[in-house]
Amino acid sequence: AKELGRNNYQFFTTELNVRAQHRYALEKNLRRALSEQEFLVYYQPKVCLQTSRIVGAEALIRWQMPDVGLIPPDEFIPISEEIGLILPIGRWVLEQSCRQVKIWRETLAPELVISVNISPKQFQDPSLLNIIQQVLHDTGLPGYALQLEITEGLLMGELELLLPIFNAIKKLGISISLDDFGTGFSSLSYLQRFPIDNLKIDRSFIRDIPEKQDSVVLTRAIIAMATALGLSVTAEGVEKSEQLQFLTESRCQEMQGFHFSKPLSATDFENLLTKYIV
Ligand code: C2E
Ligand code: CA
Ligand code: CA
Ligand code: CA
Repeated sequence: AKELGRNNYQFFTTELNVRAQHRYALEKNLRRALSEQEFLVYYQPKVCLQTSRIVGAEALIRWQMPDVGLIPPDEFIPISEEIGLILPIGRWVLEQSCRQVKIWRETLAPELVISVNISPKQFQDPSLLNIIQQVLHDTGLPGYALQLEITEGLLMGELELLLPIFNAIKKLGISISLDDFGTGFSSLSYLQRFPIDNLKIDRSFIRDIPEKQDSVVLTRAIIAMATALGLSVTAEGVEKSEQLQFLTESRCQEMQGFHFSKPLSATDFENLLTKYIV
């Protein structure tokens, strides 16, 4: 038993070492990625359920790592948040996607709205508001063409600190969407306290429609509640036509998901716009 214990210990320290080294390498690579411009913005269409037209896009970051390929955000956003790199990365995504959508609005889709994910860490940065104003100014995108996607966790922070930022954002005409709705620790009172415009129903509810009655009932209830509060609703992760049909019947306004399209490179999104608008 003693022998086994020692071996286990050794195994464990080696394992930790490997992980620490891996993490160190990842950090180094991430910093390089930023300076060498290895990040890309992909765009996933948001579709109006009434008209079936593309009304917006969500900006989703990708990392094009040399010799490795396209790395999804779940593999580097959490670490970027931990080491503070999310601030320059977040700013880059905002600027890049606003600049792109300004062009698309002028050429192909005059009413296109861009949704950008904002990490809670970015809200802790006192210069967030300045950055947003600067980006709108530099790109020429009107505030009402920008939507920020935030998560429920953020709303658990200090109301006194958050509310002035929210109000200033709203003054710029920017709308606010509550992402992953239904998965957090949401106290529904947040919806009254913060100037939220849109609820984005989490994929985990949509995924089980129509098979699971619970998901059907909850989704219906979320839509009814949001509508009563004057909020619009977006369903994410729509993969099947039954889900599309259910959401349309339930008077959900917008959908996003593989059923319509995966997130696309700027070139592919532009091709899609060309097909759809004309
Ligand atoms: P999210 O904000 O909830 O984004 C939606 C995710 O669901 C995206 O994954 C999208 O590709 C995926 N998705 C959309 N439709 C479907 C579908 O029908 N089926 C399935 N299975 N998946 C679908 P992605 O692009 O890998 O992004 C993962 C997460 O990374 C995002 O979740 C968001 O939390 C974070 N993220 C991405 N870009 C950014 C960014 O620029 N800034 C920050 N702070 N976070 C980001
Ligand atoms: Ca999102
Ligand atoms: Ca989401
Ligand atoms: Ca999510």
